[in-house]
Amino acid sequence: MPEKKTKKIKKQGKNWRKFWKLGVPEFNTQYFDVTKDGELVVQEGNYIYNLNEIIKKYGTPTEIVFPFILEERLEDLQDYFRAYMKIGGYRGKFYYHYPMKVNQNKEFIMPLISEGAHMEVGSVNELWLIKKLWEAEKFHSKIRVFCNGPKTETYIELIEELRSKNLSIVPIIEDEHELDRLSKYKGDVGIRVNLDTKADTHWDKKVDRFGFSSKELLDLPKMKNLKVLHYHIGSQINTAGSVLKPIEEAMNLYIKLLKNQPNLETLDVGGGFGVPYEKKSFYGAKKVSEQIVKLLKKMSDNAGIKHPNLAVEWGRYIVAPAQVTIYSIIAEKPIPKANAKSWYVIDGSFMNDLLDTWAIHQKWHIAPVNHANTTALKSVWLAGSSCDSDDKYTSGGSYVLMPKLKEGETQYLAIFDTGAYQDALASHHCLLSSPTKLIAQDGTIKIARKRETADSIAKLFGWNNGDHK
Ligand SMILES: *Cc1c(COP(=O)(O)O)cnc(C)c1O
Repeated sequence: MPEKKTKKIKKQGKNWRKFWKLGVPEFNTQYFDVTKDGELVVQEGNYIYNLNEIIKKYGTPTEIVFPFILEERLEDLQDYFRAYMKIGGYRGKFYYHYPMKVNQNKEFIMPLISEGAHMEVGSVNELWLIKKLWEAEKFHSKIRVFCNGPKTETYIELIEELRSKNLSIVPIIEDEHELDRLSKYKGDVGIRVNLDTKADTHWDKKVDRFGFSSKELLDLPKMKNLKVLHYHIGSQINTAGSVLKPIEEAMNLYIKLLKNQPNLETLDVGGGFGVPYEKKSFYGAKKVSEQIVKLLKKMSDNAGIKHPNLAVEWGRYIVAPAQVTIYSIIAEKPIPKANAKSWYVIDGSFMNDLLDTWAIHQKWHIAPVNHANTTALKSVWLAGSSCDSDDKYTSGGSYVLMPKLKEGETQYLAIFDTGAYQDALASHHCLLSSPTKLIAQDGTIKIARKRETADSIAKLFGWNNGDHK
């Protein structure tokens, strides 16, 4: 390395941005930086949010949502696919359908709809939100909604009701019962295949209960309104190969199915695209979108069929990086013999607020919100403040680096990529309050959800006002 450069780094001190893996587009941390005072900041355009100042004002535990991150991610994804389709002479269209279950909060859904997302719902109550939005004329009637998940009678009735009002509602049929019940459905339908390919993910079960086998689909009689072939193979797929392989299998089936189902026009490859939670090298959407378009083009051209429209439902990929969760450290306890020196106890709960930590041993990227420019670091494990010994985070038995605590000064930490799934899974173990939710947009902070009071939580458990007196 040229001498000059070494000197420069020495003079500026350590590159703390790099040390905490911030400012890296491949890690989705390009918006984050550390100030020279060691405070974590987020940059929206040329506006800078200082998370340490925000948190001092609003307290912890707190989730901060950045809608501009959602918007940029969706815009980029649509641009990749549309550009590669154009460059490659691909004549099908690209559709992004946002899978609502990944995060149903209004402050996530509205920016995505305004960025052009169509929707995917998995239950009658999610579809009911679509109805509410539609009744309030909050979206264009051309928006298309895929309906997945087991179809209860009330779910099917709502599907029929919305279709009769001319909304584009496409139920995805997943079993014989639904096939039978929806045989007279007037709108377009889709069908779900349970592929043979297995993907590299926690969720790709040996025995999947959703969808038909390829053989069953090939044996179906002609259905005039069958427009979509769908599969969903799992979430947080670990390799690009495991994203592409099922697409190839599904496309092979699509080609064969066209003989009996000539009106088929869309291949919907579901969700599953992963997020680099651990900030290690990972596959990216730019390259994989190019590979997908090339694959579909080549297979269609070889088979002499029209290029199908492509629908993707990558939920986690779009929303996880748009939220951070911030806690205070309220206590330190030494650990005698382990990979970490101390427990840092936080004023929130992994089991309640970030339930996947407990459920699927989710790993998170964690950085200090203040004192992020100190060499006085300590290897720690984090403990939640519920009364449960499972309420902890050890980074898979390894450790988390955090600044040593200073007498009389609160240390805050930020957990990255918490925008996917954690909210709907959140719970009230030990009746702890859920974090406050802030929205940071256009340089302004709004409170989307206040911190729960003891009274409001008690009500959830039947302690209605006055009853217990
Ligand atoms: C859960 C789900 C998704 C979203 O999966 P991600 O891993 O978050 O991309 C998409 N489609 C269907 C049918 C789902 O059930």
